[in-house]
Amino acid sequence: MTNDQPLVSLVIPIFQEAAHLRVFLASVREALDKCHCVYELVLVDDGSADDTWRVITEEANASSSIRALRLSRNFGKEQALCAGLEHARGDAVILIDADGQHPASLLPEMVRMWQASGADIVEAVKRNRGHESFSNKFGALLFYLLLHKLSGFNFKGSSDFKLMNRKAVNAWLKMGERNVFFRGMTVWMGFTTVQIPFEVVPRSTGQSTWSNLKRLKLALTGITAFSSVPLQLVTFAGFFFLIFSVLLGAETLYLKLAGRAVSGFATVILLELLIGSLLMISLGIIGEYLARIYEEVKGRPRYLVTDSITPATDLVPKE
Ligand code: UDP
Ligand code: MG
Repeated sequence: MTNDQPLVSLVIPIFQEAAHLRVFLASVREALDKCHCVYELVLVDDGSADDTWRVITEEANASSSIRALRLSRNFGKEQALCAGLEHARGDAVILIDADGQHPASLLPEMVRMWQASGADIVEAVKRNRGHESFSNKFGALLFYLLLHKLSGFNFKGSSDFKLMNRKAVNAWLKMGERNVFFRGMTVWMGFTTVQIPFEVVPRSTGQSTWSNLKRLKLALTGITAFSSVPLQLVTFAGFFFLIFSVLLGAETLYLKLAGRAVSGFATVILLELLIGSLLMISLGIIGEYLARIYEEVKGRPRYLVTDSITPATDLVPKE
């Protein structure tokens, strides 16, 4: 190990990936060996119920470049990324999925681009979305479109597969929110970013562990974290109804005074239903933001660690 080579940390969130973890780690190692850098692997076991932690322990025993954390339960990918970023020590940190969908073969190119361009973030951008169901693709399209319109930031194609230099990682670590939406937060940070396109390959084995509910939750986190436009929509709807009610009120009064008042029972019911649902939706929107504020105010840790493995070299202070 020479000290003039930069240290690159690879943060890998892992949830129930025991079946192909060894193969994946081998491919990552092979790719990193081609880089002119020293590397460490930061493996975060996000509360897997399968053999993942055993595999990680065995791998760590056989190698001095592995740092591993085991979270006390399944906190979700975003939290696992936080844990990894907080424990990574590298001059640059690369985040990569453990399911093989982010090609390890791209790693040398990412490191090369970081060194050559001097950019703070090297982002791998999905050229396609891989083999996903129609509903997933459509949902993602709708979500990114909505978020772009609401927040003004364009997140389309952005993935969690990226390299961040120390400056960007430190800036990221300063963001203390509990509702983490990783790719949104990195776009929000700015910094100079260069992009590399990549093809999403099918998962090695198993299935994506993101249920539709989890995706919806992440979408809600993304929208509430990056835009307060929905709240303003409530005000807007209120004004719209005010204008409407003045017009309708004037007409009703006029008809009443003219002795031609309508016996509009149906109108009353329709208006009640319309206003009732609008009010409930508005309350729901406000509630959504309130829930986020509540979660932030509680100030709970983002994740809890139950077990960790540190490389033996850590005992020696870094020169
Ligand atoms: N993951 C995680 N915690 C979770 C779900 C997933 O750490 O609760 C990890 C998973 O092991 C993988 C990455 O996050 O390394 C991406 O997960 P997945 O392939 O399920 O998501 P997708 O590719 O569909 O976005
Ligand atoms: Mg995946």
